[in-house]
Amino acid sequence: MRHFSGDRLLVATHNAGKLEEIADMLTPFGITVLGAADKGLPEPDETGTTFVENARIKAHAAVKAIGVPALADDSAIQIDAHGGAHGVYTADWAETPNGRDFIMAMTRTYDTLVETGAPAPWTARFCCTFFLAWPDGHDEVFEGRMEGQIVWPMRGEQGHGYDPIFQPRGKDLTFGEMDRAQKNRISHRADAFRKLAAAFSDG
Ligand code: IMP
Repeated sequence: MRHFSGDRLLVATHNAGKLEEIADMLTPFGITVLGAADKGLPEPDETGTTFVENARIKAHAAVKAIGVPALADDSAIQIDAHGGAHGVYTADWAETPNGRDFIMAMTRTYDTLVETGAPAPWTARFCCTFFLAWPDGHDEVFEGRMEGQIVWPMRGEQGHGYDPIFQPRGKDLTFGEMDRAQKNRISHRADAFRKLAAAFSDG
């Protein structure tokens, strides 16, 4: 694995919740985090059919535009009673003509689960793929996951996306009820980050 020796990293996401979580995880490494939205980068279309392809699209677009190493995250929820969906379409479930609406996405998720007739617990997991790209074309990929279940009704107002309906395995709280530090110790993103951290620590 290539060691990351720079002091600036562009985090290629327009999702403020993800950016805050990733910036927190990078704090101990003394790296200056640049956000894609702050840099005025457009949000590329995620036309891939896998997490790695979509993360690569985001990371490469950012490296090309700014010329500093870029870290992209592609993450998703996989629900067993839906055969592993929403997968790469996780964000699409929240799309409305006026932007993303996760209350609607969570409600639709619950309604479709009820329609399947599948009994609770509705096992599910969050997955995270980190794609780290350097301007010279070198890439590294790191993957993480957190097992849990979908719960209803929604609980908690912290976090982002589907956090209020995801209860991690072995915990009584949903991600939406946890503060960021609690979530960042156990999340799919933290799992992938532990693997990525070796690139920042080695050498
Ligand atoms: P993408 O990675 O930007 O394609 O979108 C991932 C989708 O999964 C978004 O809709 C996010 O809100 C959702 N998602 C990813 N990570 C989390 C998380 O930690 N909590 C809740 N939702 C998440």
